[in-house]
Amino acid sequence: MDKHIKGLHHITSMAADARENNAFFTKTLGLRHVKKTVNFDDPGTYHLYYCDEIGTPGSVMTYFPFGMMPKGKRGAGEVGVTEFAVPKGALPYWKDRLSMLDVGGLREDTFLGEARLEFDGPDGDGFALVESDPAGRAPWTGSDVPEGTGILGFHGARFRLRDAASTGELLGFMGYQKDETAGNVTRYRIEGGNAADTIDLEEIPGGASAYQGAGSVHHIAFAVEDRAAQLEVRKALLDTGYQVTPVIDRDYFWAIYFRTPGGILFEIATNEPGFDRDEDTAHLGQALQLPERYRAYRERIEKQLQPIEG
Ligand code: ZN
Repeated sequence: MDKHIKGLHHITSMAADARENNAFFTKTLGLRHVKKTVNFDDPGTYHLYYCDEIGTPGSVMTYFPFGMMPKGKRGAGEVGVTEFAVPKGALPYWKDRLSMLDVGGLREDTFLGEARLEFDGPDGDGFALVESDPAGRAPWTGSDVPEGTGILGFHGARFRLRDAASTGELLGFMGYQKDETAGNVTRYRIEGGNAADTIDLEEIPGGASAYQGAGSVHHIAFAVEDRAAQLEVRKALLDTGYQVTPVIDRDYFWAIYFRTPGGILFEIATNEPGFDRDEDTAHLGQALQLPERYRAYRERIEKQLQPIEG
């Protein structure tokens, strides 16, 4: 599968309250809500997408808000920190903004020379803003975040694992190269990918297992250009002994999933067809979009979903 993986595509997490989730990503973080649809396996639950103007692969944070779901417990065997890139020099602005808006867990740090600001999401989600000036990225300009400071998609993600070796081996198989180590964290980076090109493996031997709930990452998706590349990746994974799902149509991309040795669910998603396939760029995310098989039940589905705007 060499050279097919292009960095991250999207990260999907779970939330409790849909309205609170929408407000946090669109108002507090200033991302664009580009798609409002439902969980294709559970149409009574939203699937909400927050990202740049068009949903560029590597910028797409998505959520399943499950309502009364209890909070997850952070630990080993999960994506511990979802990292967003911001321009160099932007962290002081963000530190002021997030503390003014009562965002919890603010903690400044540096890792491999990059300044980071960690913070908690509404359900205790682990996030960080990392100063990195990624090439070819533009922030969403429709929020009140000043343009020179806006979020530029994902920087990468940090996994927490009891034993990082097998996941490191898998990343190598996917085309990532082992980079530097600092303390108990080793960086992996992919060449020739999009700007969301790092995965950091934090090893916590003997650490308690994570327990999934609101605020937990459900799965992390890696980008491939098209369906042909996806089939090659699928075959390579199957040949190596991974249990991989068939290709599933997610309307805005095609997906395959497999569970990794460290416990994290990986997805491989295509860059095609993208989020403008059922609404134009100017109106992305405004109306509820349903996959073909649920369109006949629109009225019933809309009744089950609480309004999230306002
Ligand atoms: Zn996904």
